[in-house]
Amino acid sequence: MMDERPIRRPVKVLAEETVRRIAAGEVITRPAGAVKELIENSLDAAATDIRVEVTDGGCNLIRVTDNGFGMTRDDVRLAVGRHATSKLSSIDDLARLTSFGFRGEALGSIAAVSRMTVETNTDEFAPGTRLEVEAGEIREVAEVVHPVGTTVTARTLFYNLPARRSFLKSGTYELKLVVEVVKTYAVAYPRVSFVLIADGKTLLQLPAAEDVRVRLRDLYDRQTVESLVELRVDNPMLSLAGWVTRPDQARRYYEVQTIFFNGRPVRNRAVARAVHDACGPALGDANPNFILFLDTDPTRLDVNIHPTKQEVRFADERFLFDFVSEAVSKALGTRRSVGGGADEFLYQRSFASVEDAQVADFWQLHNSYILAQITTGYVIVDQHAAHERILFEELTRQRQHVSRQGLLFPINIELSAEQFAAYEAFSERVAELGLQTKVFSGRTVVVESVPAGSFMGKKEVEEFFAELAETTANQVVTELELAKLVACKAAIRAGQRLSQTEMESLCNRLFACSEPRFCPHGRPAVIKVSLDELARRFGRT
Ligand code: ADP
Ligand code: MG
Repeated sequence: MMDERPIRRPVKVLAEETVRRIAAGEVITRPAGAVKELIENSLDAAATDIRVEVTDGGCNLIRVTDNGFGMTRDDVRLAVGRHATSKLSSIDDLARLTSFGFRGEALGSIAAVSRMTVETNTDEFAPGTRLEVEAGEIREVAEVVHPVGTTVTARTLFYNLPARRSFLKSGTYELKLVVEVVKTYAVAYPRVSFVLIADGKTLLQLPAAEDVRVRLRDLYDRQTVESLVELRVDNPMLSLAGWVTRPDQARRYYEVQTIFFNGRPVRNRAVARAVHDACGPALGDANPNFILFLDTDPTRLDVNIHPTKQEVRFADERFLFDFVSEAVSKALGTRRSVGGGADEFLYQRSFASVEDAQVADFWQLHNSYILAQITTGYVIVDQHAAHERILFEELTRQRQHVSRQGLLFPINIELSAEQFAAYEAFSERVAELGLQTKVFSGRTVVVESVPAGSFMGKKEVEEFFAELAETTANQVVTELELAKLVACKAAIRAGQRLSQTEMESLCNRLFACSEPRFCPHGRPAVIKVSLDELARRFGRT
């Protein structure tokens, strides 16, 4: 063979049939892949009952029946072809996608590599449509009695792709993968009832459940479920909810490790690594179970990076890692929270890494945002949010030793009755945070000092006491709430012009914080844009 040199041959366009089979082999690699696509279609069609039947692990037969909204005759004829979808009409829709499907390839691909029948109906008072397809060609279209919903049957998968068929493992192994697929969607959609029948035997029968917890109990053994710790963290960019095994109860082999990003089960190395990282040394070489639901604005998630949509890319993978690791470690109590030495180290390592902290090149945009170059790109800092974060951390860390600045011209403010009541209750604690005051007469108060480095004038002090009164009326004011309130009022405002030195100092202090990314209320304080992203947006890559 080595001696056979390649020879030049003329270029030809491949026959449609060949293209279809090659492409289909990429989308559907094995029975479990077809089951996954069919379940996704059922969920996209708002089904509440999904029944999956397979024989020989799906190699001989796959049938998925749902009670979704079904397809009309015209729809179904189109849907079994390539690139036919009802979920996307232009490329812009990709950014706002909420359905599983969008590539319009699944039915076409399954049709290309099997003998497929679709029975579907959209109207409970009229007959539905039955369509037979073989190797991608429609053989028959007929009327059928079928309730509203859809049944897709795929027989002898890959019968016309012998190489692929020979790659399939034993029916038992393929079945194991099918079971995993069904379980995965069953976890994410507890309100949908799922049934899985393999070779005539019912393997899973999951009635609709009120929430995930119930579903977990239906799916996994008691010990597995009881070793799970629940977590939930909301952030303006990303929210995370789910369960992780307590590290000391993790076993060698995990039962479930699933990540859902906007409801879509995906693989994501950053998230999986973050969970392991957060479990800490107690984990040893065990593997925790985890079920994590991440939700974000669809514009921040690129779902179009994998042919079978098993991977997604989040706008900032590094942030994702930090966020998950922090949330999991807090839930498990494996690391101290804000202000802890370990956290500071973590952030220096991962987000405001030493190289990122080498900030140069400052610009102030509209007297509100600071633009600064970092080694890996640039950052935009919201000056108010950043300063709020800095002050908040200083106030909470230095408790009772907060540095103050005396006022050259003391400020007098007049409080309302409610405000004065709040003032009396809190003035001592507020003084500890650097805002020292004294009653002048009646409800008039004199401000003697404000927290060092703050921008508090008469207006801000008035706002502070007004908001304090409002807060006390509605909730218990904790030390942290109080510090947040002081930080918010003492922080530099948007619209305030800053000198080079002030901008530099603000950025350096922000990156020295243990949580530089957000203001104490959870709004972003800094946005990082990488050189890679710039290169991509300018079409350089
Ligand atoms: P995609 O899901 O990416 O749109 P598919 O090839 O999986 O592509 O499906 C093509 C189209 O067929 C879908 O957009 C949908 O309109 C329709 N369809 C497929 N399966 C179902 C189903 N179970 N119920 C209702 N409509 C379906
Ligand atoms: Mg689909």
